[in-house]
Amino acid sequence: MTDVEKRTDRSPVPADWTYAPAPESTEIVSLRERYGLFVGGSWMAPRAGEFFETISPRDESPLAQVGQADEEDVAAAVEAAREASQTWSKLAPSERAKYLFRIARILAERSREFAVLESLNGGKPIKESRDVDLPLAAAHFFYYAGWADKLEYAFPNRRPKPLGVAGQIIPWNFPLLMLAWKIAPALAAGNTVVLKPAETTPLTALLFCDVVRQAELPPGVVNIVTGDGRTGAALVDGDVDKIAFTGSTEVGKAIQRRLAGSDKKLTLELGGKAANIVFDDAALDQAVEGIVNGIYFNQGHVCCAGSRLFVQESIYEPVVEKLKRRMATLRVGDPLDKNTDVGAINSRMQLDKIEELVAAGRDEGAEIYQPPCRLPEKGYWFAPTVFTNVAQSYRIAQEEIFGPVLSVLTFRTPDEAVEKANNTPYGLSAGIWTEKGSRILWMAERLRAGVVWANTFNRFDPTSPFGGYKESGFGREGGLHGLEPYLAFDD
Ligand code: NDP
Repeated sequence: MTDVEKRTDRSPVPADWTYAPAPESTEIVSLRERYGLFVGGSWMAPRAGEFFETISPRDESPLAQVGQADEEDVAAAVEAAREASQTWSKLAPSERAKYLFRIARILAERSREFAVLESLNGGKPIKESRDVDLPLAAAHFFYYAGWADKLEYAFPNRRPKPLGVAGQIIPWNFPLLMLAWKIAPALAAGNTVVLKPAETTPLTALLFCDVVRQAELPPGVVNIVTGDGRTGAALVDGDVDKIAFTGSTEVGKAIQRRLAGSDKKLTLELGGKAANIVFDDAALDQAVEGIVNGIYFNQGHVCCAGSRLFVQESIYEPVVEKLKRRMATLRVGDPLDKNTDVGAINSRMQLDKIEELVAAGRDEGAEIYQPPCRLPEKGYWFAPTVFTNVAQSYRIAQEEIFGPVLSVLTFRTPDEAVEKANNTPYGLSAGIWTEKGSRILWMAERLRAGVVWANTFNRFDPTSPFGGYKESGFGREGGLHGLEPYLAFDD
């Protein structure tokens, strides 16, 4: 009998966690029936009069109608931003900082309202939107407020200047947080912005317009245009000085092709297929927590998710055993229940994609494990999943699934771990679990990943730059590095 089996005997995991429901009230959120576009500080109806419905993925219930911006609407938003940039860019930097501090404070004050709306519209567990998305979004505004009047010190002798108008396109996995990652550094650097949220999660960006007004930001400094991919494409083609994009590698490549030869600056934060590497000297229980957080956080809708687990061969069995036992304790269900660990999948489309890749994993010969759990009947759900017996060539080991699906592979030596971890077109993040500091440094130097976590995973901080190599994109967001793409320099 192995150690793990013995321990199972002593402290069996209950088959069913009978927590009483602890639903967060939605009363704090008041939604309008219909939202227009936020242009020049006012709400504007889309010229073509086209609207689409945004729903809650937890039960497919409609939440609101949202405007579909066309090329002319986008052009009007860019024009408003251009006009506002005349005064915003000349404002004393310490005054710009005050607005950013104000936004940060308001976000913190209204964090419960934003957290509930984020979970309603996006499907992520309330404990994540409450404890991760909202505090981090406010922290980004606080952090970049601090830089606004220190740009000359941040880039000495380079005379930093704002670029003008930034077009920003964001995805649905961290709607408000991605907005903060984009808007805070752009405004601190003296730019004005036109931002397009994702089609499935526009509501916190629209609520943010309220914050913009409450902070009395001059009209036109922040403009929000909603719509589908066509709206994003119109923004890319618009009269903007920079495009900042976060989303799929496919769309990122299309944008790069589109902008080739133009003067527009570009940063791309794209997909990932991170390796989470566990050595035999690691603290295994902590590592298992890190593995679970790495892949099941936000239903795996995370570009830097640790979706490929590499376990040193000698500890493969205990790690997989512990992982399965831990997975059996995850509670899947209503995102607004405070006990929920894994919420709803963001959209029907994303669920189809996850199901297709999981079917491919089975067909190719991998072994699947899903803990027994009751999934709600309505809405979009997928049980936490782990695949063992995975070959590197399998689609589940190569493609970004963007769902709660982990592929487990093994290695014998540090060299082999590096080789296998780097065997991907992506290069966004990686994790290393070992007690040995020198090994962490040795590995971190060799892993082709923009972010490498050691003995932890999925930790974010506004002071720390984030971004990728290879098909994960280029440019950094966060930290001092995150200001640079929004500035022009004399040199
Ligand atoms: P997309 O790349 O399509 O979407 C990202 C943003 O770009 C959205 O606002 C989208 O609008 C917009 N967009 C779509 N087409 C264009 C275009 N031609 N020009 C300009 N903007 C455009 O990602 P999806 O939401 O479709 O997700 C697809 C896959 O991408 C996921 O399964 C996942 O693997 C990956 N992904 C990666 C993310 C990351 O952080 N790295 C984030 C999100 C997705 P709209 O929402 O209206 O389509």
